[in-house]
Amino acid sequence: MVNNLELIKEKLLNRKQELEEAMSLLYKEKVSDDQVQDTGDQALSSALEEIKISLHNNELDEYQMIAKALEMIDTGMYGMCMECGNPISEKRLLSFPNATRCLSCQEALEEGRS
Ligand SMILES: [Zn+2]
Repeated sequence: MVNNLELIKEKLLNRKQELEEAMSLLYKEKVSDDQVQDTGDQALSSALEEIKISLHNNELDEYQMIAKALEMIDTGMYGMCMECGNPISEKRLLSFPNATRCLSCQEALEEGRS
């Protein structure tokens, strides 16, 4: 059972809103670039576009993790590791409210990547 669930949920909702604003700004920039692009340097603008897309993807990843965490709060599954089913420590949840894995599963995942 997570004691600070309301606090964590508030953190998640605040961060979700920040990300929504950041993503909508990126989207607007992209639209205005397209409008002046007809005679522009295609290669340069596509390189810039890639940078923006990768930034956008990081935000999108985080956004999806937050959406997942909020969904888990609603279904009462929040605070359980999605890998092993053990409870995630509350200290970890307060530092990383979008955590869906316990520390040992997260470490195992990161070791596997490198
Ligand atoms: Zn785990």
